[in-house]
Amino acid sequence: ISRPPSEVIKKLMLLGIMATINQEIDFDSASMIAEEFGYIAIEDKENNHQEDFIVQEKEDKPEDLVKRPPVITVMGHVDHGKTSLLDAIRKTKITQKEAGGITQHIGAYMVNINGEKITFLDTPGHEAFTAMRSRGASITDIAVLVVAADDGVMPQTVEAINHAKAANVPIIVAINKIDKSTASPDKIKQELTEYGLIPEEWGGDTICVPVSAVTHEGIDNLLEMILLVAEMQELKANPNKRARGSVIEAKLEKGRGTVATLLVETGTIHIGDAIVAGTAHGRVRAMIDDKGKRIKKAGPSMPIEILGLSEVPVPGETFYVVKDDKLARNIAEKNKEVIRERQLNQTQKISLDDLFTKIKEGEVKEISVIIKADVQGSIEALKQSLERLSNDEVKIKIIHSGVGAISESDVMLASASNAIIVGFNVRPDNNAQNLAEKEKVDIRLYRVIYNAIEDMQDAMKGILEPEY
Ligand code: GDP
Repeated sequence: ISRPPSEVIKKLMLLGIMATINQEIDFDSASMIAEEFGYIAIEDKENNHQEDFIVQEKEDKPEDLVKRPPVITVMGHVDHGKTSLLDAIRKTKITQKEAGGITQHIGAYMVNINGEKITFLDTPGHEAFTAMRSRGASITDIAVLVVAADDGVMPQTVEAINHAKAANVPIIVAINKIDKSTASPDKIKQELTEYGLIPEEWGGDTICVPVSAVTHEGIDNLLEMILLVAEMQELKANPNKRARGSVIEAKLEKGRGTVATLLVETGTIHIGDAIVAGTAHGRVRAMIDDKGKRIKKAGPSMPIEILGLSEVPVPGETFYVVKDDKLARNIAEKNKEVIRERQLNQTQKISLDDLFTKIKEGEVKEISVIIKADVQGSIEALKQSLERLSNDEVKIKIIHSGVGAISESDVMLASASNAIIVGFNVRPDNNAQNLAEKEKVDIRLYRVIYNAIEDMQDAMKGILEPEY
């Protein structure tokens, strides 16, 4: 910050910190000093893929926090009605007048239910959810799992359940297509119990709501249940500070420049604010809400479209409103360096090779594993044997398993959850292989169950032979 040490020491003394010139101070003190000189301190969190650079935010006082709307992602198997359900909610809950006759698709929308609001992310599916998460955005508060009542729990239903669980996001089940004569909600509930989702009416704690995206039956009930679960989560944010949030979507549009959909997580964003998102920076030139209306400011959980960024940011990237243009540009420049470095020196996710060191350093207390195999029987055998290796120091947790090749979605989940993938008599497909190399996800392939168990055991003891 180009200030002589004597000035820094003076400021420190005024803050009650008696420091000498070669004394180390902690980040909090450093950031307070930086602020005194008109800078915002950025913490360089090494090896934290999610947030390398953080614009330091003051902690919120409890009295500054107010209730905010929940943010929902809709997940489920293909053709079970995710898109139809999102459309039905939009159609029934956003009046023509509100929407000015046109419905604006900006990647997320907000509905109003008796004065309470809910935000829906408009890109359904656990792939989008986990892709966002692997880039650092954990914006979903509740997952709505859509299961077609005339079908059943399908592979992608199970994936969705595991992806939501890995992110610790509560699940509400929407049993869809109940208008069909072949619908059998009870069969769905029965099948869900096998995956740990026990319906409330059967003594569990999973809310299941029968709905039809076609007749709109049950939709109001679903929305009420969402509000109920949100109420229990006590979602809060401080609207009275500079905004921070996530990039939902972004594109370059002719005549408008960079158009980015943002979801505000905390604070309030205003027209004219200086903003940075990864390597993109700029001023908010215009702000449009999900109803196509021009607005001047937006608070927590609100999705908005903004114009004015220097380049197209990556979805999932965190955006920050900062003091001025200069700072925004500086942070963006700094982020460019970080990305360059990261590409050169991509940090390895957890791997069997360095497991022992990480356990010893206390860095790892739980090993997340994804199992893919050719038959269900092998999955069960592997699952039980691996989980049994858990000891006092470290627990082995199977976060997802399934029959079939290792897919991109598996790798994405492993990347977002820092998990190891174990394949038994299966291989990663091409895309998964490439992604695993990029994301540095450890994939271990086996043909003998015993070898998989032995490797894990050796890795935990630190005697695993390196792979060549
Ligand atoms: P997605 O792949 O999960 O997004 O599923 P879609 O929303 O595209 O729906 C797949 C098909 O199921 C479409 O032909 C829909 O019209 C139909 N569908 C969706 N919801 C319902 C429903 O509640 N009842 C009936 N009868 N059909 C539905």
